Amino acid sequence: MQTALADFIRDTPEGREADAILRKCVHCGFCTATCPTYLLLGDENDGPRGRIYLMKQALEGQEITDRTRLHLDRCLTCRACETTCPSGVQYGRLLDIGRRLVEEKTARPAWDRLKRRALAAVLPRRFLFAPLLALGRLARPFLPARLAETIPATATSAGAWPAPRHARKMLALAGCVQPSLAPDINAAAARVLDRIGISLIEAKGAGCCGALRYHLNYQEDGLGDMRALIDSWWPHVENGVEAIVMTASGCGVTVKEYGHLLERDPRYAAKASKISALTRDICEVVDSEFGRLEPLLGKPGGRVAFHPPCTLQHGQNIKGVTERLLARAGFDLAPVPDAHLCCGSSGTYSILQPELSAQLKRNKLSALASGRPERILTANIGCLAHLQSGTGLPVRHWIVALEERMK
Ligand code: SF4
Ligand code: SF4
Repeated sequence: MQTALADFIRDTPEGREADAILRKCVHCGFCTATCPTYLLLGDENDGPRGRIYLMKQALEGQEITDRTRLHLDRCLTCRACETTCPSGVQYGRLLDIGRRLVEEKTARPAWDRLKRRALAAVLPRRFLFAPLLALGRLARPFLPARLAETIPATATSAGAWPAPRHARKMLALAGCVQPSLAPDINAAAARVLDRIGISLIEAKGAGCCGALRYHLNYQEDGLGDMRALIDSWWPHVENGVEAIVMTASGCGVTVKEYGHLLERDPRYAAKASKISALTRDICEVVDSEFGRLEPLLGKPGGRVAFHPPCTLQHGQNIKGVTERLLARAGFDLAPVPDAHLCCGSSGTYSILQPELSAQLKRNKLSALASGRPERILTANIGCLAHLQSGTGLPVRHWIVALEERMK
């Protein structure tokens, strides 16, 4: 694609990166076939090719309107387009640059600004989110059904966290909303790894990975969260932890990109790159250690449907690994049509774009239920809570289900 970026951005690092990405796009449109919002709305501007064109116009200095912002807001950042694109267009990176520019050049209505500010203030802070969630649970019976269904009725109990006793140590990210919504996930991961000779530890004071605020377009705040997390982890990295384990693929995709996101920060670039290199999704760890886990598996697994989050299959490009290890572990995997499509959770998307999100959830749940599973398994807390709010079938993290299989 020919480009002529405007003077204000052409010679900046973002401008050069955006230009290189835009030039790779040949406008073939293969990506539109896998874009969930295009499939729902049928509007070229609600598909990747149209959005790329809108961002190109913005970067070339043409008028940026509220419609431009709306089409970018409707994007789930699922990156299905990226894994479909035969030309290797890094749509996600282009979107970060385009969204920042469009945010600067347009004015959101006051209510929209307030909602986004509130989400950016509350969700990454456990000490705010946990009491608000507890209040929401108390008020649940009195809330309108649509609001009530977004608040999980109960929290699962975490159970005991094994004391660190092995020479092999890995670091886990507690995360921001996960400890309040499903504290059993990291605890189950710690118990599974403990049984195969790896101690999982969490760093005191470690907070949000930064994805939440970064993708709400408070990019500087998000980068600040990333630096703070690196500071909390660094003493453990210097002590030789073998890996940094992610049980939420939404956080994993971001931490794996720290090296890129902080590459222009002279104080953090090297540390960020080391952190990214150490980061592994829990499925990568369990898959590589499966030989030692297999003899410990007992009870039958039951019939399950697995929902691979977009942040796992498109963002981290990890496809089929969890499904394969669940099958090896004795689970009966129900077939799931259109497994590449987003469930509509996507961070704060379910709150900011409720209609589109609800439609995607309905479609995803009907696909997941079509193979008659006893429960649904997934790999990201956002997808888990979102899907659970629309079905009576239990929705769990797969590591919790795997732990139940251990003798
Ligand atoms: S992003 Fe890729 S698939 Fe989509 S139009 Fe451009 S080159 Fe084609
Ligand atoms: S990231 Fe997802 S929603 Fe956004 S354009 Fe790509 S496929 Fe469509």
